[in-house]
Amino acid sequence: MAELRWLADEMVGRLGRYLRFLGYDTEYVRGLEDGEIARRARAEGRVLLTRDRSLAAQVPGALLLASPDLEDQLRAVRAAHPALRLDIAFERCSLCNGPLRPWHPAAGVPLPEELPRERVEAGLAVYACDRCGHRYWEGSHTARIRERLEKVAAGATP
Ligand SMILES: [Zn+2]
Repeated sequence: MAELRWLADEMVGRLGRYLRFLGYDTEYVRGLEDGEIARRARAEGRVLLTRDRSLAAQVPGALLLASPDLEDQLRAVRAAHPALRLDIAFERCSLCNGPLRPWHPAAGVPLPEELPRERVEAGLAVYACDRCGHRYWEGSHTARIRERLEKVAAGATP
């Protein structure tokens, strides 16, 4: 089965970022006409995620999200696509959807300031975006995301 790919409109941008944390190829569109959004979703074979009923009606397989709540939205996506993985995968940049690759500090070059030096020296896995260069690693931020994903997986209400 082909890997799911998504197109999030501007009303569900946060959901789109979470799908990127899960490792899914997720485009995010802003400021486009409905017809153009629908055309892109169809042309690129992406599942459209939207809260706009009339837009959803223009794209076969689009997912109309009733709730503004992120966890409800993730549950709705999973209900429609039970194969959805609910764990962080360091494969997609949450900012630009670029592919992530393992990153290693270069010898003799100062470590970028945002990285936790001691943990990197102890072998922490770091990933960098091919497109924008943003770096990712396991930390308090991923712990918060994972906690939220576990709640979604358990079906608990917030
Ligand atoms: Zn990026």
